[in-house]
Amino acid sequence: MYDILFQPVNTLINLKPTALKALGRLGINNVRDLLFYRSYGYKFISVNPDLSIVPRGTEVVVSVVVGGIDWPSTSRQPMKIYTANETGELALVFFNKIPPFMMAKLREGERITISGKIERNGRFMPQLNHPDFILRKELIRRVMPLYHLTYGLINKQLYSYILEGLNAIELAISARMNFGQLHGEGKQSTNSDNSGGNIYDNEREYMRSLLAALKGLHLVHVDLSRNIGEQFIAARNALAAKELFANQVSLQNLRLRCKKNRGLRIIPAKELQQRVLSKLGFTLTEGQLKAMEEIEEDQDQEAQMMRLLQGDVGSGKTLVALLSMLNAVASGYQACLMVPTDLLSTQHYNFFKKAISDICGDTHSGRNAAVGNTARDDDAPSLASDKPINVALLTGKSKIKERRLIKEGLADGTIDILIGTHALFQDEVEFKQLGYVVIDEQHRFGVQQRLDLINKAEHPDVLVMTATPIPRSLTLTMFGDMAISQILTKPKNRKPIITKTMPIERKARLINSLQKKFDRGERVYWVCPLVDPKDKFLDDSEASEHASEKSAILERGCYSDVMTRYAELASIYPEKGAVLHGKIKSADKDKVMASFKDGQLQYLVATTVIEVGIDVPEATLIVIENAEKFGLAQLHQLRGRVGRGKKESCCVLMYSPKNFTPAAQRRLKTMRESSDGFYIAEQDLLLRGGGEILGTRQSGEPDFYFADLGVHAELLVKVNKLAAAVKTSDFLDFQVRLFDKEQDNVSY
Ligand code: ADP
Ligand code: MG
Repeated sequence: MYDILFQPVNTLINLKPTALKALGRLGINNVRDLLFYRSYGYKFISVNPDLSIVPRGTEVVVSVVVGGIDWPSTSRQPMKIYTANETGELALVFFNKIPPFMMAKLREGERITISGKIERNGRFMPQLNHPDFILRKELIRRVMPLYHLTYGLINKQLYSYILEGLNAIELAISARMNFGQLHGEGKQSTNSDNSGGNIYDNEREYMRSLLAALKGLHLVHVDLSRNIGEQFIAARNALAAKELFANQVSLQNLRLRCKKNRGLRIIPAKELQQRVLSKLGFTLTEGQLKAMEEIEEDQDQEAQMMRLLQGDVGSGKTLVALLSMLNAVASGYQACLMVPTDLLSTQHYNFFKKAISDICGDTHSGRNAAVGNTARDDDAPSLASDKPINVALLTGKSKIKERRLIKEGLADGTIDILIGTHALFQDEVEFKQLGYVVIDEQHRFGVQQRLDLINKAEHPDVLVMTATPIPRSLTLTMFGDMAISQILTKPKNRKPIITKTMPIERKARLINSLQKKFDRGERVYWVCPLVDPKDKFLDDSEASEHASEKSAILERGCYSDVMTRYAELASIYPEKGAVLHGKIKSADKDKVMASFKDGQLQYLVATTVIEVGIDVPEATLIVIENAEKFGLAQLHQLRGRVGRGKKESCCVLMYSPKNFTPAAQRRLKTMRESSDGFYIAEQDLLLRGGGEILGTRQSGEPDFYFADLGVHAELLVKVNKLAAAVKTSDFLDFQVRLFDKEQDNVSY
C-alpha cells in the first residue's frame, strides 16, 4: 500500500551519485525519509520585485530577459550578463563556469528565471552574484524552507527533490482514490461500528490530512497573512499525532501477543512471606501492601502479567520483588531478577540470601546440585515441602565453570531464583520453568531487551521496577497501556534528606568536618565524575551516561576525578576509605561494598557506579562534585543513596562556578527545593525531552520523527484511546510502517 513511500529515492528522482550520497548522509534513503526531512527555518523571498528600488540584501526570484554578455578577458575576471525586465535592469555575475546546458539558454532576448541576493553598489544597477537558475515553476516561492545540508547538496536542490516526492505521493493517493475502494469506505455492513469519526480508520481522510500535513511541513501552500511558524507547527503536530498513533498500535499488537492464556498461575504464599518479613523485622508499608495486592491479583490470572512498579528511591521496591518472587517459587515456578549493574546484582543477592536463609532452621538442603555462586546453606529455607529455595547469581563476569553449573541448575530446576545482569539475556539461559521475571531500574533497558522478555517462549509474568518515575506519557510509548503500581510511601522513621549546594572552594572545610560523622559511625559517599586525572571519558562501564553530557565533558575537560580526591581524603583519614569505579574488577568491587556496608570502611570515593540502587542505611552524607554536569534524574538517584536509615542525611551538591550555566543552576535549584521524584522527573522531561530519561538514546531506540514527549504528552494519551478502538487492517499496517524507522530501506 502506497509502496512508493518506501522506495529508494533514486527510483523516483533522477539523482547524480553525489546527490544520492549526500542524501544518504542526511539519513534520507527512501521517499518517506525525504518527505519527513524537517526544515529548521525559512526565509522570505521577494518574487519579481521592482528592480529599480529593490533594496540591497533582498532575496529575490525574478524573471528577466538576457541583454548583453560581458565575456571575461582573463580567467580571474567574472563573466557578467546584463538583463532587464519591465521594472529595471539587473546584472548577473559569475566567477565560476556556467554549466553548458545553462550556457545554451543564455542568448540575447531569452527570458530566464533566477534567484539570489541583491547586491548594490552606488548608482550602478543591482546585481546578483552567482544566482541560481530556476528551471521549475514550483521553485518560484515567496517562502523557502531552510534545511540542514551537507556537501554536494544545496537547499534549492533538496527542496526540489522534496517537491517531486510530494507530487509523486499526491499522484499515488489520487490514483487510489479514483481507482477503487479505500479502507473505511463502502463496507458499512461489516465495519460501521467503529469507524465513525476516527480518522485513522478512514483512508480517504487520513491520506488527505497526511498530504496536507506534509505540504505544511515543507511550507508548500503557506498562508502569508498568517504566522508561518504556527502553520509549520500545526503541520508537525498533525504528523506527531499520526506517529504516536502508529506507535500505540504497534505496541498494542505486541501486547495482544502476550494476552493469550498460558495456564500459568501464581498463588500468593502468604505464610512464606510472613516468615521472611519477621526474619527481616519489617512490616510492609502501605504502599508496599497495595503494590503486593495488585501484583498478586495479576499473578493469579492466566494472562501474562505486564506491570510497572514505580517507587521513588528508597521506597522499598526490592522487598516487593522478593515477596512476589517467592509466590512464584512456592507455586512451582522459577523466577529471575534482572538488574543493570554487577554491584546491584550482588547487593540484591545478599539481601535475598539474608532474607530467606534460616527462616526455617530445621530444614536441610536436600539437593546441592547448584553450586558456584549459589546460596545453598544447610539451613536454606523451605517451602511447605522440604524443598529449599536456591538463589543463584549470574553476571557478565561469572566464571565459565560457574556459569555452566548455574545453567545446569536452571535447566534442571534446582535453582529457583536467578539474579543477574543483562548477561541473563545475552546468554542463552534456559530455564526449566520460568514463571516470573522482575526487571529492576527499568529505564536502563533498551527496547530490544524488553521485547526479548515479552516474547520469551514461556510468557512469564513480568514486573518492571523503576525509581525514575516515568510519566504516563512515556510508559505508553514503552509498553502501550501497561498496568502501573505506585509506592507512594516510604518505610517509617525516614528523615528527609537535606540538600545543599556549595561552590568547590569550600571543599577543604567540608572535608575537615567529616571527622564528626566518622566519630558517630556514619558513612559518606563522595562522587566525582571522572576516574583519574588523565581521563577524558566518564566512567561509563556500568552506569550509563547521557551521550550529550559525555561530549560536553570532552569539550570542557575540567572535572574532578576519583583518584585525586581519594588521595586528598586519605591524607587526612587514612585507612577509612576506598575508591569505587567501573574499572575495578567485579570481585574487588564486591569486597569494597561489603566493607563499606559493615562499617570497616567509612567513606567511598566513587563515580556514578553507585548511582543505581545501592543500599547502605548508615550512609548519611553524599557529596556530589561537579553536580552542575549531572542531569536531574541522575542527581535524584545519587541523592537516594542516603536517607535510607533512621538518622538525618545530607546531600551536598558541589559545583564549579566556571561551569555553572543557567540551566545547571535551575537543575540544582530544583534539587534543593524538591525531594519528590515525580516532580523532578517532570522537570527533567521538560528540560531534556523523553528520550534521555528513558536512556533510549544510548540503547539505540529510534527517536520519533515528529513527536516530542515533552510537548505531545496529552496528544499521546488521546491517540492511545483511539488506538484501542481500531481494528487491524492493511491500512493500519501501512500507518505503522510509515513511521517505523527500522523499515527504511526496501529495495526492489
Ligand atoms: P528502592 O525502592 O530504592 O529499590 P530498596 O528496596 O533498596 O529501595 O529499599 C530501601 C531500604 O528500605 C532498604 O534498606 C530496605 O531494606 C528498607 N526497607 C524496605 N522495605 C521496608 C519496610 N517495609 N520496613 C523497613 N525497611 C524497609
Ligand atoms: Mg532499588
